[in-house]
Amino acid sequence: MASDRPTHPIGRPVVHHDVVCPFCGLGCDDLTVEEEPPSTLAVRSTDCPVARERFSHTPVAEPPRVAGVPVPLAEAVEAAAALLGAAQAPLVAGLGTDVDGARAALSLAERLGAVVDHALSDGLYRNLAVLQRTGWIATTLAELRNRCDLLLVAGPDPAALHPRLFERWVAPAPAFQTPPSREVVFLCGEPLDTTRAVLSGLPVTVLPGDPARTGDAAAALAAALADPSRAAGAAGIGAGDIAALAERLRTARYAVVAWGAAAFAGPHADLTVERLVGLVRDANRHTRCAGLPLAGHDNIVGVNQVCTWRFGVPLRTSLAGGTPRHDPHRFDWARYAAVADVVVWVSSFRPEVPAFPADTTVVALAPPGTAFADEPAVFIPVGTPGIDHPAHVFRSDTVVALRGRGLIDRGLPGVAAVLKAIAAALPQEAPAC
Ligand code: SF4
Repeated sequence: MASDRPTHPIGRPVVHHDVVCPFCGLGCDDLTVEEEPPSTLAVRSTDCPVARERFSHTPVAEPPRVAGVPVPLAEAVEAAAALLGAAQAPLVAGLGTDVDGARAALSLAERLGAVVDHALSDGLYRNLAVLQRTGWIATTLAELRNRCDLLLVAGPDPAALHPRLFERWVAPAPAFQTPPSREVVFLCGEPLDTTRAVLSGLPVTVLPGDPARTGDAAAALAAALADPSRAAGAAGIGAGDIAALAERLRTARYAVVAWGAAAFAGPHADLTVERLVGLVRDANRHTRCAGLPLAGHDNIVGVNQVCTWRFGVPLRTSLAGGTPRHDPHRFDWARYAAVADVVVWVSSFRPEVPAFPADTTVVALAPPGTAFADEPAVFIPVGTPGIDHPAHVFRSDTVVALRGRGLIDRGLPGVAAVLKAIAAALPQEAPAC
């Protein structure tokens, strides 16, 4: 098959244009990435720290290991299959992978009767818990860019996790507002210096308040929206500011309330999300308003989509016993890891694998150069989606799947290929008599 990778002009770096960035769920597809042979990448078109750091992490391939000893890939696959074939309570988690990798991981988990979860599902579940309880009115990044005239950013600045949010989706003038206008309000959080710089051409209001009480501020706003005479201060924000913001919300043509749930502190952060969702619902009595829950690092949105279309339920699901059982508390990977005997941990976007209890057998698929607290039973180095091989990842707003290209060839297999090989090597079940 012909490769779509450009060839190296002698002595000069290869320049890749319009590269899709697969890392934070914002779906930037405009990157210029320079490649120095044999496998060094450098992002040239943006200062996004996440993209710069992740694209530049391309150490040379290393061989798989079994019990710390380098072995050929086929031997590592056999060893992983033997361990998984004997597992009593397997966990297939991490799941930092592209859509193909997720499909292979869920097929393997179904075969094993394993619990499945994503490493970053805490933030996802702060949103999903509310979606399951109350429903919500949500919008897309494209609607934000093209229609929104009032953006209310609730809680800590989401640009800490999604660095180009304001540059790509807020600073450009809305295409469908006449005249084009946009105002940004930060509620219970302060914009980063980079955000202030990007938004320097727009009216920006900062109501810093207490980020830990963002839900209180949302509730106070909802009350003031319903009845201006009930405007009261909350979360360190004065009654006058709450009343003024409620009035601004009431008169907006298309307001968007955005939040990054992963940045909310505290054990019941879903209640903060619930109050923001309630504020959006109440604002629709007066004008058009929608929520924008931001998530999406390591393709968590795509992996959750695959799980949902495959099994009818989201992540944090057990596939033991033949029927998917979804329990967001019991099958949280961090909780289930305490009882799992074998863990398959997939982390193809970042060289990070958590520590597991000492008696847990770990099969790790991660980039070369990953440092482990304890050497896993089996380590298989894998390529990074969108860098080592073409890959589909979902955008944070769930409506768009982007296809990243393969940029370099380090000879690393993708997650899907490795997991399919492990599944094929599993001991065959004895036929029923
Ligand atoms: S903002 Fe996110 S998607 Fe965009 S370049 Fe940075 S890490 Fe990549």
